[in-house]
This record gives sequence, C-alpha cells and structure tokens, in this order.
Amino acid sequence: MPDRAILLLRQSETRDQSVSLDSQETECRRYCETRGYAVVEVLREESIRGWQEERVAIDAILARVARREVDVLIVWHSSRLARKLRIAENILHEFERHHARVESVTEPWFGTPFVRQVLAAVAEEQSRTIAANVSAALRERARRGISNGRPPFGYRRGEDGRFVVVESEAAQVRRVYDLAAGGASLGMIHRALNTDPSALAPRGGARWTAVNVAAMLHNPIYRGAVVHGPRGRHHATPVVTEDAHPAIIPAEAWWAAQRVLAGRAVRHRVEKRRSHWLEGRVRCGACGEPMYWIVSDRPGTTIPDDCWYCRSANMRRNGYRVVGCPAAKPRIAPRWVDGPVKAAIVADLKRVLTIRPRDVPAPASALAALARQQRALAEVRAQRERLIDAVQRGTLTGADVERRLRALDVEAARLEATVPVEGRDERIARELRARAPRLLTDLLDAGPEAWRTVAATYGVVVLADTATHTVQVRYEGETARALGLPGVERATPV
Ligand SMILES: [Zn+2]
Repeated sequence: MPDRAILLLRQSETRDQSVSLDSQETECRRYCETRGYAVVEVLREESIRGWQEERVAIDAILARVARREVDVLIVWHSSRLARKLRIAENILHEFERHHARVESVTEPWFGTPFVRQVLAAVAEEQSRTIAANVSAALRERARRGISNGRPPFGYRRGEDGRFVVVESEAAQVRRVYDLAAGGASLGMIHRALNTDPSALAPRGGARWTAVNVAAMLHNPIYRGAVVHGPRGRHHATPVVTEDAHPAIIPAEAWWAAQRVLAGRAVRHRVEKRRSHWLEGRVRCGACGEPMYWIVSDRPGTTIPDDCWYCRSANMRRNGYRVVGCPAAKPRIAPRWVDGPVKAAIVADLKRVLTIRPRDVPAPASALAALARQQRALAEVRAQRERLIDAVQRGTLTGADVERRLRALDVEAARLEATVPVEGRDERIARELRARAPRLLTDLLDAGPEAWRTVAATYGVVVLADTATHTVQVRYEGETARALGLPGVERATPV
C-alpha cells in the first residue's frame, strides 16, 4: 500500500519568493509521483498566514493524522508550514507521535531534526526582518509626508498618496476648533453638532461624541502635519513632518487650541488640589447639616470667597419635610475655622496624651491607635525637619522662628516629665512618651496633608456657628474613644 499523502499549499506573504499555489501543487504532485505516494487530499491555505496559531487546515490535518488516515504531509517549503519555530516543531512532534512525517519538496533534509530546526529558526528571523522592513518603510513614508493612517474627517487621500482637503467637511472642522478656542467643552461641541441638522455626521459613525471630537481637536493632521509612531518598542521618537499636506487649521491656531485644551486640564488639577483638609467634617452649627467647601472660582459659583457653606441653605423640601438652614448667613470663612480647629485638636491631644498610665484605656486599642498615627507622624516629622532645614539654609529667619523652636523644645521637655514611665502598661507609656512630644509640638506647623490624616485618624467633626464665628471640635470612632477624646453623638438634622 502506497504512503498516503496530503499536500499543504500555502501562499507566502513575501512577494519576492512567492510561488503560486498552482505551481506549488504541480511540483508537489510530481514529487509524490516519483516516490510512489498516493495524494489523498490537497489543502489550500490561502488566506491564513504561518505565524497565526489558529490554522484551520493544520488542525484538520492533525486530526486526520491522529486517525491514522495520513502517512505524510507534503509542503513546498518549510516556511509554508509555519514561520514560528515553536509552532512548526509542535506540528512535527504531533506527526511523529502518530508515526507520520512531513516532507518538504525543496528541502530534502527536512526529515533531519537538527537541520530542520536551524532552518525554521532562519525562517522565523526572516519573518522578523520583514516586519522590521515594513515598519521602516512606514517611517520613510511618513518622513516624505505621506500619512500611513486613514484620512480623517476633512481629508481624503490624493493620487500621490498625500491628503487632500474635502472642503465640505473642512468647514465643520474649523467650526469645532473655533468652538474649542472659545472655551466650549467637548460635551458642548458634540451636542452642537448632533443637534444641527446641517452638520455632517462623523465618518463611520452616526453621532459626534466627546471621544471623536477630542480626537479631532488633538489630531496634528489638521495643521498639515504627518506624525508617525511611536508604536511598540521599536521606535524611540515619532516621525513628524510639518507642511505635509494643506492645513485645515493654521498651525498657530492649532497650537493655540492645544494650549486651551491643556489649560483646561490644568485648571481641573488645581481645583482638586484646593480641596480642604476638613472637607466632609464640618457641620452647620445652626442646623447640623454638612457644610460644603466651596472654592470661589469654581464655575457656576456666585460666592466671592472660598468658604464653608451649609448644605441645607437653599434646600426647601426633603421628602415630606421642608427643611432649610435657620442661619441668617449660612456660610463661614475658613479663617474662622482652620486655626481654631487646629488649636482645639492640639489642646485635646495634649490632654489625653499626658494623662497618667492608670487612665490609659485598653492597651490593644490604644496601641492600634498609635499605629494609625504613624503616617501622620511621618509627615509631621518631615515638617519639623523642613522648618529646621529652612532656618539652616537661611530662607526662614527672625525671632519668630527661634521663639517657635524654643517653644517646641520646652513643650517636649514638659511632656517628657508629665508622661510617667511606670503604670498599668509600661509599653503604652513608653510609646506615648516617645511620640507625644513630637506629635504635639510639630503638629501646628504641619501641612494640610498631615492635618487631613490627623482629622481622619481621630474622626474629627467640626460644628461651625456661622453667626458667632465659633467652632466646636468633637471626635468620633474607635481611636478617639480609645484615647478618651471628647466624642460626639451623630449630629442629627433639625
Ligand atoms: Zn445650616
């Protein structure tokens, strides 16, 4: 019985060494004839490339090999089997497992594993070289001012490969840039386009969105430039060719638009940074409702200065109840809040951290509380170091600094003396003695991030009286209770 052969015919992706499927078949059939093989099937893998693992034809062949329906697979060239070494070897291994083999018409040595593996490695390297060549060619095109992407809205590709302006669409591109330059948000722009019956729809889509409007506003194609890469790890820097094709937006206007867009992003960041360290912790003294931290330049705000503003100030209905803040002036400036709150917290902490050990609450929770202070302490110590550093560098001088440092030392010494070592739990006492002086003396100098941590650690709640400009500080949560800080029952709205 002659060996049963399957012919695998695959088109190469490289044109230079390409052999048509028909001539591959002729050669393979001749090869089988001279060896007395019976051709039982011809597989033409026309659209699938060797480096793709999902290869339907190969899977079909492997299935037949497993059923012992095939003895030999004939290929024109091993590169037709697989360009990736690992895949080729996997296939060959499968064949060997079922006592079948692969023969290459143009490579009689293919049955020798060593030679085969070297050759497969070479084929893989070739494949990589081709990919590198393609990418080099794309960069070269970009350098000559020919974009490799599809022409965006407003352009089509001309006969020489360069982009040509589509005037009907270009007018709309200019309109979008005009709107953006005037400060319109992405949402305002895409709504303007979608609600205008005379506006053209985006290519390949029915509606304008924030995404495709943003893409239009950032695309350098519109200033007449072609930008290629960087994509992947191959290219360090993109290729930029200005004046590659007619601009729809003059370069100066395009860059101006980028500055407007970038400025908007910066403003968002600034606003975020200006959130207050007490945010979410201040309640209205008149009605008990939370107070909002309002930054005066936030869009839509008519309030002249940054302030705390009662949430229920403008509220008239809440479910079935009609509520509203009874305060005549439901806002309070930060200068009435920040300093007094800090002073109150430091005073309260001094009191609880200098108590005698027999008054120290449960050791476990107290130690846990101290552990949670670590982060605040790190920041607080850094603040002290910065203060000293500033003095040493000469950027901070004067009697006030000296007085402050001396006060810190005196305070530290006083705390050393007032926290006794002996007591119910010596460990707690030691911890307190080690930490309390630094914490309390440096705290008033600490920055908003440290204070935010302190406020969170002790569950600070501030009740602000907008009429008298006074504040009350209370504490909630486990830590505060463990340390014996004056707690607060949940403030309930009136
Ligand atoms: Zn209120």
